[in-house]
Order: sequence, then C-alpha cells, then structure tokens
Amino acid sequence: MHPSSAVAAVLVGLAVSQLATLVTTVYLHRALSHRAVALAPGLTAVLRTLTWVSTGIKPRQWVAVHRKHHAHTDVPGDPHSPKIEGFLAVQLGNVGLYRKVANDPEQVQRYARDLPADGWDRALFDRALVGLGLGIALLVAVLGPAYGLLAAAVHTVSYLLLNAAVNAVGHTWGKQPFANGARNSLLLALVTAGEGLHNNHHAAPTSARMAMARGQIDAGWLFIRAARALGWATVRSRQAERVDEPVAA
Ligand SMILES: [Zn+2]
Ligand SMILES: [Zn+2]
Repeated sequence: MHPSSAVAAVLVGLAVSQLATLVTTVYLHRALSHRAVALAPGLTAVLRTLTWVSTGIKPRQWVAVHRKHHAHTDVPGDPHSPKIEGFLAVQLGNVGLYRKVANDPEQVQRYARDLPADGWDRALFDRALVGLGLGIALLVAVLGPAYGLLAAAVHTVSYLLLNAAVNAVGHTWGKQPFANGARNSLLLALVTAGEGLHNNHHAAPTSARMAMARGQIDAGWLFIRAARALGWATVRSRQAERVDEPVAA
C-alpha cells in the first residue's frame, strides 16, 4: 500500500462521511423528522439514495429514534442520553442504543406513523446491506480493492463517531444560550454540518436553520438555502421564536 495513496483513501473516506453527515441532517433530521423544510421530489430521491448507499439507515427508523429523543430528552425513555447512560456508553455505543428502538416495530410505528414503507422501500431501500454493498462497490471501483475498503472503513468509523457525538457531546459539553439540557459546540458543528448547534436545535426543533448567532457555522442550512435558491426546497420554519440575534438569511 503506497503511503500517499493510503492518505488519499483516508481523505476520501472522511469526505464521504461528511457528505453522509450533511445528508443526515438535511434529509433525515430537518426534512423528515421535523418537517422544517420540504424538499422537491428530485432532490428527495437523490438524498434518499445517498442515505441508502452511504449509511443503510431506514429513514422511518431514524426518525422514530430521533423523535423519541425529543419527546423524552435526558429523562427515562431517551434512546441515547449521556446523562442516563453515561458519556462513553453513548459516544461509543450509540449504534446499539439506536437499534434498541429502531428494531422495535411498535415504537417505529408510534413515532414515525407518517412515514410508512412504500414500494421503493420494499424493493430497494429497506435492503440496507444491498445499499451499503453498492456504496462500498463504488469506492472499490474508483479506488481499487485495498484503498476502496480503507476509504469505506474510515467513512464508517467517522460517520458513526460524529453522529454519536451529536448525542453524547451535544448533551454534555458546550454553551447553553437557551434553557434546555442540550449544548452548542462550534467545533462539533463544523464537522457535523451544523448538528453541533444542539442547544439551538432543542430550543427550536422545527427551525430549518440551526445557526442563530454570528460565528455559528451551519453547513446544513447553507445547503438548504442553496436548494431554496434553485427552487428545490421550501423552508417552513427558519427561525426560533426566541432567537436573540437573527442571522441574515
Ligand atoms: Zn438532543
Ligand atoms: Zn431534532
């Protein structure tokens, strides 16, 4: 394995995980879970496919776990609270905590009844291993077997740790401009397409924009704003009722 090619494969893996994190916050989180933004059918199809090949996540399961988190934040019933489970249990074991709710059809039906499986899910998107296999095959086709698998491994670890960090770090370290248990971390926001502005998000879950003050960088919102300029997105709610310092849209 050539060192510079290995570094390139690691960078590709990190880039893929950043893309997957952007898709997660825009599509799974802001569009589906909170209906903060309505996306055009073509863009929805692209983001749905990217979710499938880069994460294998079934959207209705992710939505159910996330809505349950908002319904029971840091109290019994929260699927992934560091205050209940402990920081490391969430940061390193988020997948297992996620699966406890995601694998329970009764809870998925209860929290995501507006997202029943459709024909596309039954034919394609519910087959997580097929999606992940396609994603890995694409990396192998572009980078070759060794570097492709390295990039896939880096992406997997990075994506899981970043998403876990939103739940673990986002309820442990950072500022609390609003009166809720979540935290704002500018650094975490930089590497999670804005998700690190988690205190803002708990203050205004239906806001399509998580940045609410100068210096807060929210790549998810920048993406939604660009999509809106192209006519591909309708923002339903952008700003919290309690935003202290509005940011120019
Ligand atoms: Zn939270
Ligand atoms: Zn949320």
